Amino acid sequence: MSRFFEVNDLYVNYGEAEALHGISLAIDAGQITTIIGANGAGKTTLVNTIAGILKPRSGEILLEGTDISKIASHEVCDYKVAIVPEGRRLFTKLSVLDNLKMGAYPPHARSKEKSTLAFIQDLFPRLAERRSQIAGTLSGGEQQMLALGRALMAQPSLLLLDEPSLGLAPIIVQNIFNTIQKINQEFNLTILLVEQNANLALQIADYAYVISEGHITQSGQPSELLADDSIKKAYLGIDHATHIHTNPE
Ligand code: ATP
Repeated sequence: MSRFFEVNDLYVNYGEAEALHGISLAIDAGQITTIIGANGAGKTTLVNTIAGILKPRSGEILLEGTDISKIASHEVCDYKVAIVPEGRRLFTKLSVLDNLKMGAYPPHARSKEKSTLAFIQDLFPRLAERRSQIAGTLSGGEQQMLALGRALMAQPSLLLLDEPSLGLAPIIVQNIFNTIQKINQEFNLTILLVEQNANLALQIADYAYVISEGHITQSGQPSELLADDSIKKAYLGIDHATHIHTNPE
């Protein structure tokens, strides 16, 4: 039986250089799956390929049995895949509200824009308060919340998060991760979380993969990986030893 989401034997190149060398993974509906890996391991390449921003050389990307790697990039969002890209990529000169509205571009989301907007503003009261503010003047944490809110406006069934902790202070990161967990638990949204901060990611994930130099090298329950000596040594060093409270309250 096919899983909710599957990547099978995915190869991705930048010109002559092969960046992903046959990646396979699977995600169950309603779960948070994390992919941890060091700088340059291939995490962004993988999520950008799933989002349709990059095209694979070969392999399959199956969302509920449909191979979305074969369709045009702008149509991937029609299959309800939304990405919060690395570095957030907001429209920094537009207001918070206009950024959120830009998220509702897939046809299935456009017709429900008003009700989704009300829901997002309930979820992120801070964004509601600041809806007229220019996005580029928000704090880093608020910008990450806005990027999350904008992706949710697309009404995804699979949400891709590329390094949401990047460049943020530990207390803000904790807040963001609590929000990710809340979105998953309260709305049963399936999430693929790509993170260099393995300690944090493994604390909220249901299942985990390790990517290294364009290969999946390990996978398992987060508790197993947290206890694994080679993982501890390579990914859970002192720099990443920030613990979060997993209770969203
Ligand atoms: P980071 O945490 O630094 O973003 P990452 O795990 O997301 O790292 P990728 O950005 O996917 O890794 O990079 C994977 C490999 O592909 C690296 O060797 C990188 O140098 C290479 N690469 C990434 N982007 C390009 C590009 N536009 N052109 C050529 N090579 C690239």
